[in-house]
Amino acid sequence: MYCDVRYSQSMADNYFIPLFKENDRTNVVVYRSVKFSKILVGVSRCPHCQKIHQDSTLHARIYAWGLAVILSVISIIVSLKIDSILGTIGIVLVPMLFLILIGLLGSTLLENVLAKQKGILTKKDGVKRYEIIRAFLSDGWSFNPPTA
Ligand SMILES: [Zn+2]
Repeated sequence: MYCDVRYSQSMADNYFIPLFKENDRTNVVVYRSVKFSKILVGVSRCPHCQKIHQDSTLHARIYAWGLAVILSVISIIVSLKIDSILGTIGIVLVPMLFLILIGLLGSTLLENVLAKQKGILTKKDGVKRYEIIRAFLSDGWSFNPPTA
């Protein structure tokens, strides 16, 4: 499915994605609730692709968070040289933003790049192309839980 070469050999190889569907909605004046079903659908994935995905995720996290830490340290050093309110804000705020932005966005982006480099579909692309998932989506299921 992810490489169109091999098939999954065990349940553990497959990539599982949760799908949600609304059951019923309660709308009382001050009380709102929504009940929904949740299922895990497995996208067929061979052990080879499973390994690539696993490694890409791990490596992407190491690179992205490593870069975030380095940039944070640099910004702390720069902030310390600026002796003002701005500098104080810089010591706390800028490194925090660096960490969160680069860490989270960077690891997701890099993970996809690494998977593509190995010539297989990203986890997300594989999910989108899977016919069973498409069938569920057109039946009213969604990737996100419904909000109250
Ligand atoms: Zn494969």
